[in-house]
Amino acid sequence: MSACPLCLGGPARFACKVLLYADCELEIHDCPDCGAAFYSPAPSPEQIGLCYPAQYFEGFFKQYWQDYYKGRSLALSLARLRPSGALLDVGCALGTLLAGARDHSAWKVSGLELSREAADMGRELNNVEIVSAPVALAPWPDASFDCVHMNNVLEHESDPQAALRAAVRLLKDGGRLVMSVPNGPVDLLPNRILYRREGRAALSRHGGHLFFFSRRSLTLILEEAGFKDISILCFHFKMGMKARGWLPGAWRRLQPSPMKRDALPLEEYRRLIPPKPGWALYRLRQLWRRLWRASWSDFGCDFAVTAEK
Ligand SMILES: [Zn+2]
Repeated sequence: MSACPLCLGGPARFACKVLLYADCELEIHDCPDCGAAFYSPAPSPEQIGLCYPAQYFEGFFKQYWQDYYKGRSLALSLARLRPSGALLDVGCALGTLLAGARDHSAWKVSGLELSREAADMGRELNNVEIVSAPVALAPWPDASFDCVHMNNVLEHESDPQAALRAAVRLLKDGGRLVMSVPNGPVDLLPNRILYRREGRAALSRHGGHLFFFSRRSLTLILEEAGFKDISILCFHFKMGMKARGWLPGAWRRLQPSPMKRDALPLEEYRRLIPPKPGWALYRLRQLWRRLWRASWSDFGCDFAVTAEK
């Protein structure tokens, strides 16, 4: 029994066992005070390094236009914030979202990506500034950015509070954090239920999630890092139904993925980029999906977070 690393309350109690990757069974504990869950003890950096599968790169190319259009949409909201500014995408992979934002706004864009291979390929593919470093060691001076974007990054950080403090450091006063994070209790639900039913650890729904944040725990660590005007909207309600086992094939047992292998040359991957789809249809669908975001419900699988420094 130990204190919660997020709210320092607790003590945290055993929730279930999960497989971080094949043959790596670890305990998850959850905190009765803030509702977050986490590995206890925390996995080692070596273990964390082993949980990213081989398909890691392929996905970035297959979803190229989705990421690009996400950037184009972000450009529209950035322009409403201010006509020009500086955007940092933490965990930017190939920097495709940044390319979409740059091509459709007057904003300057930069990216951080832990994987050196992804950063190298992204610079060549998208002609975007990408630095390969963890956010806590980001090389830019204080107050360099008007917006920091972090999509599905915080749950992979072994020290999420340090990552948020780094975002605060990098932001100008009044600057905005835009981030998405899984709704932890829902993200973990299939593992919890499977463990209770079968007494057996299963792979988590997404490899490498180290923290399962509740709305309350997210609010706490954002405030503690120095953010204000925090908005947390819950979305992906259909995934929320799946996580509860309400839809067929909901718990398609996740198979252990092959271990990460060396990257292929960029040209091999470039072929995986599909033809460019139409923007208008993408945007319509996105606006429709955005209607299904709620501040009053935690049913969905993900949180969309905005906050100001
Ligand atoms: Zn807690």
